[in-house]
Amino acid sequence: RDLLQSVPSLTPRAPRASSGGETVLEINNLEKTFSFGSLLGKLMGRESRSVRAVKDVSFGLARGRTLGIVGESGSGKSTVARCLMRLEHPTGGEIRVNGQDIANLQGQQALAPARRRVQMVFQDPNRSLNPRLRIGESLIEGPLNLGENRETALKRAGELMEVVGLPSTSLERFPHQFSGGQRQRIAIARALMMEPEVIVADEAVSALDVSVQAQVLALLAEIQERRNLAVLFITHDLRVAAQICDEVMVMQRGSVVEMGPAAEVLGQPRHEYTRALISAAP
Ligand code: ADP
Ligand code: MG
Repeated sequence: RDLLQSVPSLTPRAPRASSGGETVLEINNLEKTFSFGSLLGKLMGRESRSVRAVKDVSFGLARGRTLGIVGESGSGKSTVARCLMRLEHPTGGEIRVNGQDIANLQGQQALAPARRRVQMVFQDPNRSLNPRLRIGESLIEGPLNLGENRETALKRAGELMEVVGLPSTSLERFPHQFSGGQRQRIAIARALMMEPEVIVADEAVSALDVSVQAQVLALLAEIQERRNLAVLFITHDLRVAAQICDEVMVMQRGSVVEMGPAAEVLGQPRHEYTRALISAAP
């Protein structure tokens, strides 16, 4: 507690009264093991190596709430995100999006509805925005794939530019013509084009300067509240988590060590590992 007070920006945001709306995302006992053994190695009697990147992770996320996942590099945060986006196939557990378990669905067609509802913003803007496409083309890509008409998609893209604080003429330009903070605003707009219920932000502000971070976080919080989104906010940076999260889940070597309201986890951590993370925060 004293530690936090001596570092003002680590003070968690004021708790919000509402406990949130309906649960849109529910993860039960998620597990992901990466195996490296080759078939040839096996035939030659070599032991295959494997890494359990995520073990027995469970949490729920309600509309209107922001859950943070914090932990050191390598603790399994991105693997959780990649599993729930089904960019990875989990080796165990359930991933319920609006009640439907998508953990073992296969194929683009089966996964399409969940992939529309859950949109991701990455740390690297080049993963959210194709550097060779004009912003407008990047933004309408998803909607066009769903069969939306080009004109209406472009109109919405222009409106969303203004929502994220950029002129609608930005649609004509290319990603390299924008700053890092502006590119993350555009990446948020691209996610919103799909009218998602959940946004997963994986280190989305980690590459930005502190003052730009604060602006992008404020934008995300405003959009989240106005659109009643559920946000899963992944960061290794406790200060950033404190600024935006209602609840925080702490991961260490693939497991959850503690989870609860941000003010409790960051203000009165119960677990030794969380205390160590807080005292190591710059
Ligand atoms: P974080 O996002 O918290 O830094 P990651 O989820 O990226 O952690 O990684 C967790 C662990 O899983 C690490 O040990 C990492 O090396 C391993 N890992 C992640 N992705 C892969 C992969 N595609 N193949 C093998 N191991 C992986
Ligand atoms: Mg990561």
